Amino acid sequence: MHEHDSIFEQMVDRGHERICFHHDEETGLKAIVAIHSTALGNALGGTRRWYYESEEDAIFDVLRLSKGMTYKAAVSGLPMGGAKSVILLPHRDTARTESEARAMGRFVDTFGGAYIAAEDVGVDIQYIDWMAMETDHVMGGEKVSTGGDPSPWTALGTFHGMRAALLQSGRIDDFSGITVAIQGVGHVGQNLCRLLSEAGAKLVIADINKANIDMMVDQFDCDVAHHDDILKTECDILAPCALGNVIDGTMVQHLRCSILCGASNNILGDPEEDAVALKNTGIVYAPDFVVNAGGLIHLAGLHLGMTPEQLQLKNDEIFDTTVRILENGNGASSTYAAAVNLAKQRIAGGETQCHAN
Ligand code: NAD
Repeated sequence: MHEHDSIFEQMVDRGHERICFHHDEETGLKAIVAIHSTALGNALGGTRRWYYESEEDAIFDVLRLSKGMTYKAAVSGLPMGGAKSVILLPHRDTARTESEARAMGRFVDTFGGAYIAAEDVGVDIQYIDWMAMETDHVMGGEKVSTGGDPSPWTALGTFHGMRAALLQSGRIDDFSGITVAIQGVGHVGQNLCRLLSEAGAKLVIADINKANIDMMVDQFDCDVAHHDDILKTECDILAPCALGNVIDGTMVQHLRCSILCGASNNILGDPEEDAVALKNTGIVYAPDFVVNAGGLIHLAGLHLGMTPEQLQLKNDEIFDTTVRILENGNGASSTYAAAVNLAKQRIAGGETQCHAN
């Protein structure tokens, strides 16, 4: 499976239902929606605004991310499928505009609800509300659509995943004296700093954005590592919360953590191989699509009509799901394989645990 395979080869290999390209003449918007699966229901997944070096990179990204959403929804017990969209920016620093967002909203509307958009990298609450001026099939805004910023929920779920991993690595569910290294203190990383600090963890943080570092140092007792060194920092838990693809087979040898548990999507370059390497090295890996599902659970749960109490319970379930997957990982080739197995079982059996009305 490679970004240079043909689009159909990639779709067939990953099991995608639909990939749709759109060009809006008026704004110049170029976007792709990939629907991986609607087997369990309509598919909710973020819209990423990103400058890609090539169209192949964008297609590779949207296909990989959308498949991850199918697994994420399924392991979380949501009656939802998996999809994602990307906007291909003409330049790295192309500013977001209302007209671009509204063009994207019109594109999303053409799916009639089979695809429901939300925030991802480069898309904020305002952008979502602009999209929502053109479609009802978007979540995560505040004024025109509902849901708000999902990142506090993503951070909470990742925190639950860390608790489960501490238990699985033979410790107790207690963060006092535990060092957590966080790569990227943006929306999710900042919320994670707060939760971990309240729980008594020692923090080591890194970010390429100095303003974010300064904000965290002002608020919390934390050490700062250089962003080139953070992954190799000695710690109990390493939490990549920046971008994906940060750990491959070579990097595994340099890790000095006992647990890998972060919010980034696609932390591992090749999850099938790299998760086995992690297991062989004795590092407990809490699969990203299991622990970072809190934001999806929140927005999908609202979409499905869950109450605040049901939403909280569903987020708390990330702890139990992670425990189950880490235990299953002992009898599987890796915890990643165990997580994929659980997702596939739920998709095949239509097994979801939704408390929605
Ligand atoms: P964000 O853009 O708000 O924050 C990312 C942070 O990482 C930024 O502060 C950025 O400066 C920093 N960063 C980028 N490259 C870096 C590097 N090489 N080293 C150190 N820092 C670096 O994004 P976010 O919403 O916090 O999401 C973080 C990750 O979690 C993303 O991969 C995203 O796809 C994933 N995720 C987010 C959510 C959510 O609810 N926001 C849900 C699921 C998954």
